[in-house]
Amino acid sequence: MSARRVEEMLVARPTSDGDGVRLMRVFGGQDLSRFDPFLMLDEFGSQSASDYIGGFPSHPHRGFETVTYMLDGHMQHRDHMGNVGELRNGDVQWMTAGSGVIHSEMPQQKEGRMRGFQLWLNLAAKDKMQPASYRDVPAADIPVLPRPTGHIKAIAGEVQGSLGPVRGHIARPMTEPLYLDIVVDKGAYTESFAVPEDDTVLVYVYEGSAVVGGTRVEKSRMVRLSRQGAVEIAAEGPAKLLLIAGRPLREPIVHYGPFVMNTREEIEQALTDYRNGTLTRRQAH
Ligand code: MN
Repeated sequence: MSARRVEEMLVARPTSDGDGVRLMRVFGGQDLSRFDPFLMLDEFGSQSASDYIGGFPSHPHRGFETVTYMLDGHMQHRDHMGNVGELRNGDVQWMTAGSGVIHSEMPQQKEGRMRGFQLWLNLAAKDKMQPASYRDVPAADIPVLPRPTGHIKAIAGEVQGSLGPVRGHIARPMTEPLYLDIVVDKGAYTESFAVPEDDTVLVYVYEGSAVVGGTRVEKSRMVRLSRQGAVEIAAEGPAKLLLIAGRPLREPIVHYGPFVMNTREEIEQALTDYRNGTLTRRQAH
């Protein structure tokens, strides 16, 4: 089978969010259908506390899921359900905003390096108003597959290991997300990943450089691949990259700030519910 080719290359853009947190937005905001079922990918990373110390004070979400993957540092999550989660090096937090969550994400360090990613995964229309839920996956519970050149962490989905397939902790039946962190400590790495036909495939290089589908991809760049064939990744030297794939929902996407719904009316309802203090009380009936 032929390999998937690069259809588009994006450069992560500096922006700020929350209370003045400086971050790199890899994609998100507009024309989201080609990334379906994914809505946004942010990379946050700084040695300088002034870039992150403000954190993300109390704010709402509705209609999708957030996946936070910490590489370095210590962030604390608190939400209206009373959950308190401590995210440290290598930990993952999977939050289903569903019908409504109000939470904060605040740094628990006053100096040193803070680095990680937040990915937004959409929910199908029928799942958007499910009750909010939240799960911490400690680093020690994330499967690590050794490779001669480094390793792969399986945050979600299935990857072929030497003893058979290895599955990440979170499975979503509608979108079947694959989320891998591929670390190459030394070259020459080459691997081919089978991904279902028509799935959206995104590869983000966050250290070094790699060759994806025959195209050179430098640090801080993401490629979106064509929809048929295997995903071929190679690196001659040290490199770190995220491989993210999932089945498109093919439903209308209306995104407004922290809410992602299918219609404008549903967005207006979310704004009204938040204003009235009922965002976290309304559920599907
Ligand atoms: Mn949030």
